[in-house]
Amino acid sequence: VEHYLENIDKKADLNAFLETYSDEARQQAQVVDQKIAENRAGKLAGMVIGIKDVLCYQNHSLQCSSKILDGFESQFTATAVQRLLNEDVIIIGRQNCDEFAMGSSNENSAFGVVRNAANPAHVPGGSSGGSAVAVQADMCLVSLGSDTGGSVRQPAAFCGVVGLKPSYGRISRYGLAAYASSFDCIGIFGKNIADVALVLEIMAGADEFDTTVSKKSVPEYSKALSFDRKAKVAYLKETLESEGLHPEVKQATQATLDFLKTEGHTVESVDFPLLDYILPTYYILTTAEASSNLSRYDGVRYGFRSTSAEDLQQMYTQTRTEGFGAEVKRRILLGTYVLSASYYDAYYTQAQKVRRLIKDATDKLFEQYDFIVLPTTPNTAFEVGAHNDNLVEMYLEDLFTVQANVVGVPAISIPNGRATNGLPIGLQVMAATYQEDDLLSFSQYLL
Ligand code: GLN
Repeated sequence: VEHYLENIDKKADLNAFLETYSDEARQQAQVVDQKIAENRAGKLAGMVIGIKDVLCYQNHSLQCSSKILDGFESQFTATAVQRLLNEDVIIIGRQNCDEFAMGSSNENSAFGVVRNAANPAHVPGGSSGGSAVAVQADMCLVSLGSDTGGSVRQPAAFCGVVGLKPSYGRISRYGLAAYASSFDCIGIFGKNIADVALVLEIMAGADEFDTTVSKKSVPEYSKALSFDRKAKVAYLKETLESEGLHPEVKQATQATLDFLKTEGHTVESVDFPLLDYILPTYYILTTAEASSNLSRYDGVRYGFRSTSAEDLQQMYTQTRTEGFGAEVKRRILLGTYVLSASYYDAYYTQAQKVRRLIKDATDKLFEQYDFIVLPTTPNTAFEVGAHNDNLVEMYLEDLFTVQANVVGVPAISIPNGRATNGLPIGLQVMAATYQEDDLLSFSQYLL
């Protein structure tokens, strides 16, 4: 605990943590020591973790890195977090992120930009940027993030750590602040697969507070990490041919595919003409869900309330005007638009249909192949401010990560070398729904 607290302090310029729970963490550590001495310690005894500022932790501030939740404290603890606490994890603090998890660079936080420890002029990725940097820069052993369209895998790739998004419905979302409920997943950052597997097996599984969680039994992922068979691997031709793909990222992915072939695995190129439709589908549906989810922040029930209003209507308007940042407002507007009476069928209904096509096409691939391998991101971490004038460019950074959320399958990003600029490159692997065991053991094999 002291080691991590010292590091958090020393590296405060990276802006990864919004708050540390130093006294509490020290106390938790003492309790854990005692339990170890008495031989009754939990499976995660002494593991020091950080949590993204979208996860409820009873009697602790929760702000989703937004001004609109100023002064708000959680009244209960997220199921996933509670299960870790039950196994004696030590929570060291709350981590910075893009406001309401909307973003790909961690530049959208009301608490300032987070910086990549590999090169602080560059972004760490987003939205779980603080959580990725915290693991990258040794400020905690494991972080919990959330992944709605890549927010764990993309920053993991940019920071050179492991980032897992499990299947939709594997981990309870109870106590995870909602962005787009049919996409949101709690995800895990770690330095290695073993830690991630262990944390997953403890958090996963049925929860009476979230009916979308599967009742499927949870394997002991951490005990089955050897991969000793021949895999059938597909890569989507369109991903490796996509226009904005950085040559060194392409090369790194190609090198992995070549390695797999040499090792006797089946590696095949498949067509995936739907690739171009994935991003628009994602941004239509997630903004629609976000506009609905974020309607609850009205100045009455949570956190911040504008003091400049003179009547009720103004209170709502002023609170939301002053409380939300630009990106969140943009998405609420977009979402309201695609849900409006005149455009609902043209956008929302249409996107739902396309989502089904993408899901069917992806599931079909998994009838033939064990894994899909692709780059996590088209580029390495860009400079802070690089996409300020062109948000579409920023959205394009999510091209490879959103498919797993649109479909609901598990996906992981693992480190795959560095580019000549010194920045990490990530490799992404996707597997069929609930095949986290295979996904993790295969990733272990690749690392
Ligand atoms: N970058 C994507 C977005 O802005 C993903 C965010 C996320 O996964 N939370 O929506």
